[in-house]
Amino acid sequence: MSQPPITTASGIPVADNQNSLSAGPRGPLLLQDFHLIEKLQHFNRERIPERVVHAKGSGAYGTFTVTHDISRYTKAKLFAEVGKQTATFARFSTVGGERGSADTERDPRGFALRFYTEEGNWDLVGNNTPMFFIKDPIKFPDFIHTQKRNPQSNLKSAEMMFDFWSHAPESLHQVTMLFSDRGTPDGYRHMDGFGSHTYSLINAEGQRVYVKWHFKTRQGIKNLSAEEAGRLAGSDPDYSQRDLFGAIERGEFPQWEVKLQVATEEQLDAWSTRTGWNPFDLTKVWPHGDFPLLPVGVFELNRNPDNYHAEVEQAAFSPANAVPGIGYSPDKMLQGRLFAYHDAQLYRVGTNHQHLPVNAARCPFHNQQRDGSMAINNGGAARNYANVVASGTAPGGMGHGEQGLALHGDAGRFDGRGAEDDYTQAGNLFRLLTPVGKQNLFDNLAGPLSQVRVETLQRQLAHFDRADSAYGDGVRAALQARGVQL
Ligand code: NDP
Repeated sequence: MSQPPITTASGIPVADNQNSLSAGPRGPLLLQDFHLIEKLQHFNRERIPERVVHAKGSGAYGTFTVTHDISRYTKAKLFAEVGKQTATFARFSTVGGERGSADTERDPRGFALRFYTEEGNWDLVGNNTPMFFIKDPIKFPDFIHTQKRNPQSNLKSAEMMFDFWSHAPESLHQVTMLFSDRGTPDGYRHMDGFGSHTYSLINAEGQRVYVKWHFKTRQGIKNLSAEEAGRLAGSDPDYSQRDLFGAIERGEFPQWEVKLQVATEEQLDAWSTRTGWNPFDLTKVWPHGDFPLLPVGVFELNRNPDNYHAEVEQAAFSPANAVPGIGYSPDKMLQGRLFAYHDAQLYRVGTNHQHLPVNAARCPFHNQQRDGSMAINNGGAARNYANVVASGTAPGGMGHGEQGLALHGDAGRFDGRGAEDDYTQAGNLFRLLTPVGKQNLFDNLAGPLSQVRVETLQRQLAHFDRADSAYGDGVRAALQARGVQL
């Protein structure tokens, strides 16, 4: 394939891209070979810091189409009418592994969606699980460190993982999902996605409802057995990337149905009083029987990026990116992420990461943010300060005209753990598994649990017992089958 003539990054034609400039045919090389120097310098700087979490991922562009009217709940223009389409970008990922790690590891999968709306970018940065391991972001760095490598051995450590989980019973619900068959999905096309947090919607009257987002795969749920996932980790570590990229190249565009659970604050208060569960606790789901799924639309992925680094590696999502008509909730984990994601992108990609094409809004944008490195769109000659209005502004509500948020209680630090029920929902998940699914869960848990200290093991077994006695019994039997003395 013929290629255009090579130039330096500054556009200067390169005289020779095969032979360095040397003093005589045997060298040494001359410092004035600027093309060689620039080529090596740029090569040395090719990597940006990898994400601390969700480092290994795959991305694609697509389209979201509204199929059902939800304008009674939200004034967000992307939902204005049935049939309306919005351009999207999605990135799927594993969580704990490094950029070169295997796609098929047992791990939650990131499920990050961006909607390029006419009112700015809306990022819904979720997972393939509806719940999470912890409910307070102050524990997040500690939790993630237990999923990473031991500081001395540089090995992953079942002891570190279960030391954390066994001291944090609120993790049991997601631990159960992680070690079930859904902990090793067959690529990214055959899994559901969840916004996971409780979010809010605001309608044209400023009224707020709380919501949970669900994305149901139209490809059907498909999981890998633990053995197959392990085999693929060695033979095809980029399995999920290959599957997604290949399907889109072949024109087999994956689709997900977008669904919504909706509740007013009063409904959540009544539900919370009845069940004892906090509707803003990320370790819990809203049962479908209490809050049915409403259809909203469909999103499809139909275009592979041209350049992985520019478009997938540099994609910088933040759940703080919410357009008018879409809002946050008191969920403590969401509140932590509203800060942490943008902060991570400032460090990882840079001050002006929103100037990059994959991150840039596709609607007009205007503010007085200026300068910083790589300022591609720096406001031109426009004034670099905003009008300050001395009086007569009419502040109200939270942000885009929504009603004020009632606060409950004094500012302080609260530990609801212990008093809260962290077992029933984990038990509900266990009880809906098929007999084969239960046995796989027992076996998947027995592997790492056979490597932990006896105190850690006993503490974790007690949690399984409290969720369902058959759960604890099953894991014990699987451990005994591996020769573990109990
Ligand atoms: P439902 O019976 O109404 O829903 C069960 C949910 O569990 C469905 O979304 C189903 O997804 C999903 N599910 C089925 N098999 C598995 C599995 N092996 N691993 C993980 N999820 C599975 O029950 P409830 O709404 O009352 O919830 C019961 C339990 O189901 C919860 O405690 C929670 O652990 C789990 N769950 C609940 C969700 C929710 O938002 N309410 C979402 C996902 C899981 P599918 O339709 O794809 O089979």
